[in-house]
Amino acid sequence: MKNEFCPFCGKDRDCEMSRRARTIRVRGTEISVELRELTCNVCKETFDDPMARDPLEVAYDAYRDQEGLLCPFEIKAFREKLKLSQKGFADLLGMSPATISRYETGALQEPSHDTAIRACMNPEFLQNQYERRKHRLDEAQRDRLEDSFVSQLRVSTSVDGTSSKVVEPSISNYEVALNGG
Ligand SMILES: [Zn+2]
Repeated sequence: MKNEFCPFCGKDRDCEMSRRARTIRVRGTEISVELRELTCNVCKETFDDPMARDPLEVAYDAYRDQEGLLCPFEIKAFREKLKLSQKGFADLLGMSPATISRYETGALQEPSHDTAIRACMNPEFLQNQYERRKHRLDEAQRDRLEDSFVSQLRVSTSVDGTSSKVVEPSISNYEVALNGG
């Protein structure tokens, strides 16, 4: 029993909580999620528990898990690790800042974008990407990214004298990946 606001009675009522399975279709895949509902003990009407998570969010999480996609917090944490703003990160990837913002706040990412972000988690790929895209980043963002990551790579590769050489990506699958969005 739970004291909750009943939208049918228009006042707080004792309510019974129940769970109901519902299927939500995400990109053609059926995902089963559990909804939390309340039934008012006075009017007997049933309504969504306002404290429960948005079913679509729950379905997206299950879909990401199933498809091996990054979670919103993983995308944000990676960007923050690179010390980039959303705009800087978007410029690095060739996406729009609004897209990055949406992905960090729960929108379901395009598979090609997921691949692109994941690829940059490889330090070597990231360095190549940076060399190719740095003209798109403003000076502050370049400095911050170099501080956070690229500078570390340079230090670690300076032993064999290859640190100043720009290595071109052997396969530009990245460009292909970005065509999706
Ligand atoms: Zn009621």
